[in-house]
Amino acid sequence: LVSRENKNENTVVRVKGVRIGDEQPQFIFGPCSVESYEQTRAVAKRMKEKGLKLFRGGAFKPRTSPYDFQGLGWEGLKILKEIGEEFNLAIVSEIVHPSHIEKALEYVDVIQIGARNMQNFELLKEAGRVKKPVLLKRGMSATIEEFMLAAEYIVSKGNEEIILCERGIRTYERATRNTLDITSVPILKKETHLPVIVDVTHSTGRRDLLLPASKAALAIGADGIMAEVHPDPAVALSDARQQMDLDQFDSFFEQLISNERN
Ligand code: PEP
Ligand code: MN
Repeated sequence: LVSRENKNENTVVRVKGVRIGDEQPQFIFGPCSVESYEQTRAVAKRMKEKGLKLFRGGAFKPRTSPYDFQGLGWEGLKILKEIGEEFNLAIVSEIVHPSHIEKALEYVDVIQIGARNMQNFELLKEAGRVKKPVLLKRGMSATIEEFMLAAEYIVSKGNEEIILCERGIRTYERATRNTLDITSVPILKKETHLPVIVDVTHSTGRRDLLLPASKAALAIGADGIMAEVHPDPAVALSDARQQMDLDQFDSFFEQLISNERN
């Protein structure tokens, strides 16, 4: 069902008036984790000032270590909802448990399924049963075919509103956190009718690579970019090394947009 052979025209995912998978690239920015109302609001305010519409923030954080910050959970989703309403931003947030999907519909505009859960089949099926866009991230060790089959799980239950997200895969290379598989973008665009975006934060893990990786992603045909922004990355409770601060974000976004115009 996700293949181009089955449906030739591009699927355009609509979220609060934003069209993902249409002509214009779209942007999803926000902090790695929702840490507090103030921290989240500071980033959202800046996004609003830039005319951006899609806001991300993690409330349920699937962390590698059980001793790391696990997110604020439902409290985090409440904060996101309140801030989303204040600034009229669409909320993108990760859900990690199938039984949370139904309740999460009250809080989020897009359900994110993270890399670590790309093959959590019960979660995929549950996300397929609801009428809400799903942002599905590629597993860090998943082939493109496995990624497409994960999306197929969702569509097969009735939900075609899927945004695929390339977020880097694990290779032997340690210069970057993951290896951004940039050619997965045109392959996925060719093989499927779904929109494809690139998460430059988790794929590179390096602030200095966010802009070049974003330019490369748009040049190769991505429908959008995801990146993380925090008011004070040095004290962030997750991904402190790779989030942009607000000034860095201004400069990043300015350069990305002017590059797009040329
Ligand atoms: C995230 O986007 O918050 C995240 C945890 O990313 P990933 O699932 O790609 O590691
Ligand atoms: Mn992160």
